[in-house]
Amino acid sequence: MNARYVGIDIGGTGIKAGLCDTSGALLAVHEVATPPQRGVVDVLDAIAHAAKTAAGETWDDVAGIGLGMAGFLDIPKGIVRFSANFPQWIDVPIGAQIAHRTNKPVLVNNDANVAVLGEAWSGAGKGYDHVVLFTLGTGVGGGIIAHGRLVEGAHGMAGELGHIVVRHEHGALCGCGQYGCVETIASATGIVRLVREAIAQGAHTTLREVTAKAVFAATDDALCARVIAEVTDALAQAMAAIAVVVNPQRLIVGGGVSLAGDALLEPLREAFARKTPAAVREGVDIVPAMLGTTAGVIGAAGLHVHGRA
Ligand SMILES: [Zn+2]
Repeated sequence: MNARYVGIDIGGTGIKAGLCDTSGALLAVHEVATPPQRGVVDVLDAIAHAAKTAAGETWDDVAGIGLGMAGFLDIPKGIVRFSANFPQWIDVPIGAQIAHRTNKPVLVNNDANVAVLGEAWSGAGKGYDHVVLFTLGTGVGGGIIAHGRLVEGAHGMAGELGHIVVRHEHGALCGCGQYGCVETIASATGIVRLVREAIAQGAHTTLREVTAKAVFAATDDALCARVIAEVTDALAQAMAAIAVVVNPQRLIVGGGVSLAGDALLEPLREAFARKTPAAVREGVDIVPAMLGTTAGVIGAAGLHVHGRA
């Protein structure tokens, strides 16, 4: 039998279902809007329906469904404790509910973990067993694949790479309650903050609008150059910290900020080389993510191949 897996990316605005084969190739995608009231039953019904629609005629070949979503999850039990996208949900047993509606085994994981799994299975980490992903968006997310398997930790909190502390003095307050996390610097929010603070202190800039994208595009702006140096220094420091722990083959950079491409990656590689012992540095490449917004559905499907045993 040609087994198939369905992965579902459950977001506040859309529910995206993808059908994958055993190699991680994405065969079909079906996306629907998240039911506007975001009530439990409506969303669960929409998820089950999206899974069946994505699989179409191959539904009988589907060996499992994976769900990925942001929030505080009990991963082993498949329970959503709390999710900012679904404020009414408290302790929803989403895994059991979708299994009941579909009669398929269901695995659940958070959005950052399924993204790294997608990249490792089918994207920039394909063919490697030791892969770390940093997702640079509004915040900084992350995930770790070691020995070909997702590292979840005792309570599913492993891979919270955005909260590696990189500034021990004068660090900014992070959403997690700590100071100086890499998320406070290398996220889109952090980059904008750095520019705004410098302007408030009298720094001159040619920027017309302060966005992460504009900062990386400004080639002749001394303030932007300084901010880029600070961002890549902080991110390289976090990468060095995780690299000496898990000795990865690929450090993948995804998320909206990563669209800056070489303007981000080149100084990042230089800073990483300065901060990492040679024996760890050699054999690891810093590369851009490849899958974009499909990493979530592919990785969710991959939970049945690379996730919890
Ligand atoms: Zn933090």
